[in-house]
Amino acid sequence: MKVWVDQDLCTGDGLCAEIAPAVFTLMSDGLSYVRDGGRVMAKTAGNPEGYEGRVPIPAGLDDLVLEAAGECPGECIFVGE
Ligand code: SF4
Repeated sequence: MKVWVDQDLCTGDGLCAEIAPAVFTLMSDGLSYVRDGGRVMAKTAGNPEGYEGRVPIPAGLDDLVLEAAGECPGECIFVGE
C-alpha cells in the first residue's frame, strides 16, 4: 500500500506528522508531505508531490498512517495502490 497527501487540501495543522513522523513531515511552506526514508516527496525537495509523490507505507506503520488519514482535518491523506 502507498500513501500520499494532496497539498491543495492540507491545513498545515501537523497532526499527521505528530502521529506518524516517519511518514509525514511539514515543510517550510507549512504543508505536509510524505517521506520515503530521507526523501521528502515535495517539489521544493526536487521530487514529485501530491498523487505523483506516493510512497510505500513502511512495514508496521499501516495503523498509524490510517489513524493519521482518519484524523486529518483536510481529508487529504490518501492510501491506495
Ligand atoms: S493532518 Fe492532514 S491537514 Fe493536517 S498537516 Fe497532515 S495532511 Fe495536512
